[in-house]
Amino acid sequence: MSFQPCENSDRQSFEAIVGAENVLSSAAEREKYSRDMTEDLTYLPELVLRPRNTGEVAEVLRHCNQRGIAVTPQGRRTCLSGGALPVCGGVALSLEHFNRILELDEDNYQVTVEPYVLNNDLRKAVEAKGLFYPPDPASLKICSIGGNLAEGSGGPKCVKYGTTKDYVLNLEVVLSSGEILWTGVNVLKNVMGYNLTQLFVGSEGTLGVITKAVLRLIPKPRHQKLLIASFSNLEDCSRAVNVILGEGIVPSALEFMERNALLAAQAYTGLSFPQVGPDTQAHLIVEFDGMEAEEVAAQALRTGQLLTERFVSLEYLLSAKGQAEEDTIWRLRRSVLVAAKARSHCKEEDLVVPRSRLPEVLVLLGELRRKYLLEFVAWGHAGDGNLHVCVLQGSLSRGEFEAVAAPYLKELFHGVCTTLGGSVTGEHGVGLVQRQFMAQVLNPVALRLMRTVKQALDPRGILNPGKMFLDAEAPILS
Ligand SMILES: Cc1cc2nc3c(=O)[nH]c(=O)nc-3n(C[C@H](O)[C@H](O)[C@H](O)COP(=O)(O)OP(=O)(O)OC[C@H]3O[C@@H](n4cnc5c(N)ncnc54)[C@H](O)[C@@H]3O)c2cc1C
Repeated sequence: MSFQPCENSDRQSFEAIVGAENVLSSAAEREKYSRDMTEDLTYLPELVLRPRNTGEVAEVLRHCNQRGIAVTPQGRRTCLSGGALPVCGGVALSLEHFNRILELDEDNYQVTVEPYVLNNDLRKAVEAKGLFYPPDPASLKICSIGGNLAEGSGGPKCVKYGTTKDYVLNLEVVLSSGEILWTGVNVLKNVMGYNLTQLFVGSEGTLGVITKAVLRLIPKPRHQKLLIASFSNLEDCSRAVNVILGEGIVPSALEFMERNALLAAQAYTGLSFPQVGPDTQAHLIVEFDGMEAEEVAAQALRTGQLLTERFVSLEYLLSAKGQAEEDTIWRLRRSVLVAAKARSHCKEEDLVVPRSRLPEVLVLLGELRRKYLLEFVAWGHAGDGNLHVCVLQGSLSRGEFEAVAAPYLKELFHGVCTTLGGSVTGEHGVGLVQRQFMAQVLNPVALRLMRTVKQALDPRGILNPGKMFLDAEAPILS
């Protein structure tokens, strides 16, 4: 698939649509939009456009569609699968002017937002009214709601509350043709026709541009408690996940950090809490929330009893004392990825398996470490069976690393997808870097249907080309 370059005449048309100040063309201005947070990849767009409203998005897309110019929608570019990279050049369509919370409907527990709103800003705004928006990617202070919707993002709270998809009622979307639609109705129940809303959730900017979202809220839990459990056995730590959930306890977060993850986060943040002993292999973060303090305390107590009774490898169990200690633990947890990247160039993977098979993933990772001599850092949303693994370049040259990482990842993904019944991505998306594995996870009929949907909504393939499918070839890195 090939695309037209942006000519001077295109630039003039764009200036007439979005205003000259919202067309960025110098290399220095475009550079910022050439990266997301995937490895160290960069692809320079030919132009950056910053439309100010839905009508302008529609006009831009209509023009690009007629001319055959590639368009890459961009939120805050924290994507980890290369989804926001303009790999085919063309236009980077930044949604940065769409940064308003438009309406908070307290009676119906709904909020209408524009896509560039920070996840954390939305959380704070609704929490001030006693309401709660649960999806909380670890990047919540730097990522947008539009990006969360386009990726179907998850986060620690999702083990109890579900992911982004569970909080979407209705979306305003612009198609590549420039047509504008609302996908549903602002109600909690609606079975009229196909579920177009969910079609756009997780579509990674390949089917349409989201310009407004109506999101569902819930009452904010009034109490919470956080435990941290240290284990001298890696697999035991992951087994503890099912022991807790099997007892009917549903924590509001159930997160895993193996030894290297906690050490990297501590080195990066300068924090020394909690203790990592010579035999420590992994930590589990278990958070409970609820409306009644007694109910929350009872769940924490029962969890403590279970872990103590069942695991001789439990080194210690701490209950965070107050907000400051809770914040420290979450700061550590949320900084693992950045800490791992600061340590070494790496490949960050987003594996997901049925929860009970997590211990087997850890065994597999140990085998691969011995076979390929590649160090890794592992952590993740253990309650969802979702494990993040950074495979580190370490002291290898880039060429040596790429050569050994390729068979390593092939073997890892084969084990995860074929033997363990999992998938290559639980929340970070396919984007650019995982697209060659689509056929490994999806049945050929499902894959064909997905292509048919793409063809129906974006027949010229201008929306985020080079992502999800292998059709549009990404050029050499710029
Ligand atoms: C430190 C760190 C921690 C992270 N932790 C998590 C985590 O816990 N859980 C998780 O799920 N992810 C996590 N991520 C990944 C990332 O933050 C999420 O994927 C996030 O949703 C991306 O939002 P963004 O605004 O940065 O979107 P971008 O990176 O700008 O875009 C992501 C994708 O969405 C598309 N897109 C963006 N806006 C729109 C729109 N309005 N309409 C249509 N398409 C659009 C883009 O084309 C692209 O394909 C983490 C990333 C980092 C760096």
